[in-house]
Amino acid sequence: MNEAVATPKPLYGFADEHARAFPQTIVVETTNVCNLRCIHCPQGQGLPESPNYRAEYMPWDVYKKLIDEISQHKITLVRISPAGEALVHPQFLDQIAYAKAKGVGPIDLTTNALTFDNQAIENGERVPGKSILDRLIDHGLDVVDISLDAATKDAYERIRVRSNYHRVWANLHRLLYLREQKKSPMKVMLSIVDQPEAAGEVEQFVKYWTPLVDRVLVRPYLPNLGLTGRKPGDIGEKQSKIERWPCPQFWKRVTITPEGDIRFCVVDWLDKSKMGNVRTHSIAELWRGAEYERMRGCHLGGKYAEAHPICGPCTDWMGMRWDWGFEMAIRAAFGDKSVPDKPAPLEQVYGKA
Ligand code: SF4
Repeated sequence: MNEAVATPKPLYGFADEHARAFPQTIVVETTNVCNLRCIHCPQGQGLPESPNYRAEYMPWDVYKKLIDEISQHKITLVRISPAGEALVHPQFLDQIAYAKAKGVGPIDLTTNALTFDNQAIENGERVPGKSILDRLIDHGLDVVDISLDAATKDAYERIRVRSNYHRVWANLHRLLYLREQKKSPMKVMLSIVDQPEAAGEVEQFVKYWTPLVDRVLVRPYLPNLGLTGRKPGDIGEKQSKIERWPCPQFWKRVTITPEGDIRFCVVDWLDKSKMGNVRTHSIAELWRGAEYERMRGCHLGGKYAEAHPICGPCTDWMGMRWDWGFEMAIRAAFGDKSVPDKPAPLEQVYGKA
């Protein structure tokens, strides 16, 4: 018998009572402004020039209310992963410091690392002699997850438009040096999106960085509901043969926009999946509420379009696995032996591809 086909399918549902009470991963989009225009990202595909786009920076009262609620729950991860670049928010370091002071964590920062060497600003003042990178380590940021997307200078400059290869590489090596020097337990993860422009780069990227950092992630190139340049139907031959599964986001994760809106879908950068706002609702009440339950029931019953119009034609669910995800990569990086070290091939988990 084919061992891959015999592997049981994962169970769909909450991982445990903590997950039922509160989403285990909170993605915080602190801003939708980015300093780069990467070709595989909505930022590089015309989103900032679209008529409905408005630059947003999460106000302090929204951020504080959010962190205060999160601090009351046992969670797996707070992921500061904006629809832009986290470091461009003028209160970015204050945000990290506040969340750490409230005992929230682990906290992951997704960043392009371009401005790590900028002067640190906290409470509106310069921190003498300190760069952003110095202060991230000083504040005890748990994980930094850097989007690099290329191994070579040529590919980097084609893919990460408006960035600076030499500055980013210098910042990365400075990060690794400082982490060592300050004996920081911070985990460092680097990622590359497996896209046509990175053809031939992935193997070299993995080989170069694996000995230097805690995890190297090769991310699939997803359509983001049609905003990334990858067509929604263009999902690759392997995945197209796999039967659709309920989207794990309904059991695992919420996303908070810069305006404090609570979304059920992380890739919905046009905010069609809003459930409420942190100014007027708690995350917990929405998470346990009737509308979330209705949508979970639809997904379990295979009625995706009935759950929500954006779910029906979506193909991004293929990048949202039940047996693997970013939070598991982080648990593995922290030495949790109960999670696999890397994802199993899709066909082993979800049936023959
Ligand atoms: S099925 Fe698609 S649109 Fe619906 S929540 Fe999942 S990724 Fe978002």
